[in-house]
Amino acid sequence: MERTLAIKTPRKIGKKVKLSGWVDRRRDHGKLVFIDLKDRSGFVQIVGKKELGELRISDVIEIEGTVNRRPKEMVNPKLPTGKIEVEVKKIKILAKSDDLPFDIRGDGYQIGEETRLKYRYLDLRRPRLVKNLELRHKIIKFIRDWLDEKDFIEIETPLLTKSTPEGARDFIVPSRLQPGKFYALPQSPQQYKQLLMVAGFEKYYQIARCIRDEDLRADRQLEFTQLDLEMSFVEREDVLALIEKLMIDLSKEMGKKVQRKPFPQVKYQEAMKKYGDDKFDLRKKKEENTLAFAFVIDQPLFEWKKEEKRWDAMHHPFTAPNPEDVALLEKGRAAKVRSWQYDLVCNGAEIGGGSIRITNPEIQEKVFEIMGHTKKQIAKKFGHLLKAFDYGVPPHGGIALGLDRIIALFAGEESIREVMAFPVTSSGQASVMDAPSEVEEEQLEELKIKVVKK
Ligand code: ASP
Repeated sequence: MERTLAIKTPRKIGKKVKLSGWVDRRRDHGKLVFIDLKDRSGFVQIVGKKELGELRISDVIEIEGTVNRRPKEMVNPKLPTGKIEVEVKKIKILAKSDDLPFDIRGDGYQIGEETRLKYRYLDLRRPRLVKNLELRHKIIKFIRDWLDEKDFIEIETPLLTKSTPEGARDFIVPSRLQPGKFYALPQSPQQYKQLLMVAGFEKYYQIARCIRDEDLRADRQLEFTQLDLEMSFVEREDVLALIEKLMIDLSKEMGKKVQRKPFPQVKYQEAMKKYGDDKFDLRKKKEENTLAFAFVIDQPLFEWKKEEKRWDAMHHPFTAPNPEDVALLEKGRAAKVRSWQYDLVCNGAEIGGGSIRITNPEIQEKVFEIMGHTKKQIAKKFGHLLKAFDYGVPPHGGIALGLDRIIALFAGEESIREVMAFPVTSSGQASVMDAPSEVEEEQLEELKIKVVKK
């Protein structure tokens, strides 16, 4: 007999069905035993006698039985399968389960994070998290279809690569074939997407994993997902218009209200004066369904790094200065240079950022110089990109949106961990697996690496 999903049982009243899934709840009424069987589609009540008496929560079972209408007083109008129950005829236990370390039926917020992530595969049985991951899938699918329609193509870029600066530390990977040398995992696909513009693709995007060694705050993860995007022959307003339309269409699809259209564009200095921050919450009332987007523009190109006593790029070093401020590109006036950066904020969180890029080699050199890089360092770190720009580089710009944060916003979750399948804990411990962990002595030998124990 073919398997029926729980959600489809109400269509089969009077018929025989076969169901498979987990025991989610059990109520023993002496003569009669009720269980809720759970599968990926939902729940259905199974009723039987002593054949159900042995079952425990989370046992995996297969049953055959008849779908009956429930007696009137037993109908549960809150459940899609609340009008029926399945009278068991045959039962097979496919796997037994131990007692679960925590309850998986509630929302789970009160359970300690370490425990939830250690048993994440159980935590993920929680209907709230199932819903969040389904939403994640839907949002990413919507974005892919939307960009596809606008002629963007998705291109994957390498994970084993060279450092690309985004303001965090790199994760590095030792090379076995070239001992003593290391790859860096990408903090973003920034340089590759610019190279794709040199290659002539014009409209690139990628649902891209970014890896940054940062101190973990509530909404940070060591690896996270960006909608990364780059376009040729565009100006700032083109990128902003595209992203605005994408966010409006996505909000509509997800049943959210956008507070103001077009999105307000707030100058960085104004934002700092008015809100004391470059991310701010423009919602009038904090209703659940409202999203208040705004663009922040005209950021300074450089910021002063106190500890290192030098100027650094506020966004990243490939960001173009505002053309009106090019004349100010010298160390003494660096603070005054506005950039062609833009950030997207929503309900108090920064959810994206990007810029029009530098394509003029003289300007790029000046920017690196102000940041204190010598010509030799520039050649070593970024020579490949500057070389590529010698072969006909189109004007280009792009943006990256923090997908985890956006999905959390749409899901009404505070933490991005609630919309990721296997996040790391706040101390950087992997879900379920014991990582980071020590490796075999032979592996270290192969890599010519000595670990110095303190
Ligand atoms: N690579 C940048 C980031 O990760 C985004 C961009 O400039 O397109 O923030």
